This record gives sequence, C-alpha cells and structure tokens, in this order.
Amino acid sequence: MPNGPAGDPALWIDVPDEGHSVLLDAGDLRRIPNRKLLRVSRVVVTHTHMDHFSGFDHLLRRALSREEELVVTGPPGFLHSMQSKLAAYSWNLIEHYPLRLVVEEVDGDRVRSVLHAAPAGLRAEPLPARPFESTIHAERGYTMRVTSLDHGIPVLGVVLDETEHLSVNKDRLLQMGLVPGPWLAELKLAARRRRPGDTRIDATAAEGEQRRFRLDRLTDELLFRTPGQKIGYFTDLRDTEENRRRVVDLAAGVDLMICEAVFLDSDRELAAERNHLTARQAGRLAREAGARRLAPFHFSPRYSDREHELMEEAAAAFGGPVIELPAGPSATET
Ligand SMILES: [Zn+2]
Repeated sequence: MPNGPAGDPALWIDVPDEGHSVLLDAGDLRRIPNRKLLRVSRVVVTHTHMDHFSGFDHLLRRALSREEELVVTGPPGFLHSMQSKLAAYSWNLIEHYPLRLVVEEVDGDRVRSVLHAAPAGLRAEPLPARPFESTIHAERGYTMRVTSLDHGIPVLGVVLDETEHLSVNKDRLLQMGLVPGPWLAELKLAARRRRPGDTRIDATAAEGEQRRFRLDRLTDELLFRTPGQKIGYFTDLRDTEENRRRVVDLAAGVDLMICEAVFLDSDRELAAERNHLTARQAGRLAREAGARRLAPFHFSPRYSDREHELMEEAAAAFGGPVIELPAGPSATET
C-alpha cells in the first residue's frame, strides 16, 4: 500500500516464486518503484472513481515495452472506461511496441473481454466472453475471485488465495557452503514444475564459483513448503445486508482482510450517504467473515489527526488483531 491507509488506494502483492505481481486498484502509483510495476501482470480496478483509477496511466506508460500480456479487470462498464482512457492519447507510433493489454469486465454471470494490442494501434478487438461465477483467474501461484458490491455503482470485492509456496532453509544453505542468488528462483521453479530429479542446477558457492547439483538433492536438502495466505480486499461499499452477505461468502476465513474504514461510526449517516463503511462496520464485517487479522484503510482526510480513533473503533468491533498497512509497496510482499 504505497500511500498508507489514508492515500489513494493501490495494493501491490507479490506472487511467491512466480516472478510477477498483482495490483489491486490503480490509485496513486508513483511511489511504487518501476521494477515492481514492471512485474505487475494482473490488475483489478474495483471501480472507476478517480482515486482508484487515475494511476493507471502511470502503469500503462511503463508497460508499453512489456513482452508479457497485462490483464486488467473491472466492474460493469469497464470496457468503455478503458477504451475512453486509451482514446485520450495518440497512438500513431505504437505499432512497434509489443504490449498486449487485455481488458475484462465482470458483469452478472459473464466476463466480457477485449484485446488492445500495440501492433494493431491499441484498437479494441473483442475476445470471446466466458461464464463467470466467482473466479477471474487461477494459476499455479494463486487464485483470484471477485464479487460485485453496491457502492451506488457496482464495485468489485477481491480475494486472492495464494497456493502453498516454497521456502529455502537458510541454515542448510550455509552448511552446504552456498549463497542466495538467482539460482534459487530457478531451483524453486524447477521443483514446482516437477522437472526430473536428475535435472542439473548450478548453485553459487560462498567463494563465488558455481557448483552443480541434481534437482532432487537440492529439493530435499533446501526446500520446504509453507501455506499460502488468503487476502481479502474490500473497499467502497455500503453497509447493507446484501453487501455483507457477499463479502462473508467470498472472504470466509481470510488470513488478512484489508477493508475500508472511511468514517467514524459517529458519522455513520454521512457514511451511508456516501456509500462507505464506518470503522465499526468494517470491524464487524471482518468478524463476520472470520478474518484472522484486519487492516483498516481508506480513511477520510477529515480524520487526518485522529486516525488512531478509526483503528481503535475497528479493533473494538472486530475483537481480533488489527494491523496498520505500512506505507510502501512491500506491505504484503512475501
Ligand atoms: Zn469510490
């Protein structure tokens, strides 16, 4: 969360072992270093209010040269929003860039998609629609599910479920006289892809030279599996029974629930008027979802010197550990 709990929403999440990242909302992205933005392969824009979408131009500017596809998913109307955003620029020199931007719109029981490919001048080319229940993406490293919530306009709530990931036994690494380096990523990838046991891996030794091992030996000696985290991200929603039911269905048992807590409960009429949650409502929602930890965010600037009150109110209603997401892009880097 590069802008802290009161800044424009953007959550950068690294996918363990996979070399890429996910971005939830594209608010102000300027504090996320370029090397991290370049690893983003999927973005979910919960809705197109400016504070959640105005940073997309910054990401696009950096993504023009990327070779891998960039997939951006949003609520109903998102294909039109994205097309309008792209139409604001001139693209006559874009043909030689490799960018393939896939834009998806979750609407009812369908996901509609278009491809904007740089070689075709970023013009929208329709892709086949697909049926939608809750999963918008599933791959080896993680699954991403969304639900539609009411904020006066439809908004996507997101749960990202990491599959277990591989960790390195650092003590054993030292005992073997090896040092960390890019070869560890190669080892994890080979282990994940279940390459044959006699696959050769070149490890870096303490003196800097390469030592060659069999994959099965290094896997046994160095790697162990740790369970992945389940993270819920819910922002910009009214406190209605239907919204609560949808959040609880999607987020049941999350390890970390990142949830907006825009107003103090003493201002709950204002919260209802603006289609936002109070800190108390956020805490209660996290408790109903059985979240292990809660990270309240999206604080209204009206409480700039009273943010601790929002945290305390959320904590009291939640009854479990409440954490402050640190400002900086690595908040959930694992
Ligand atoms: Zn909003």
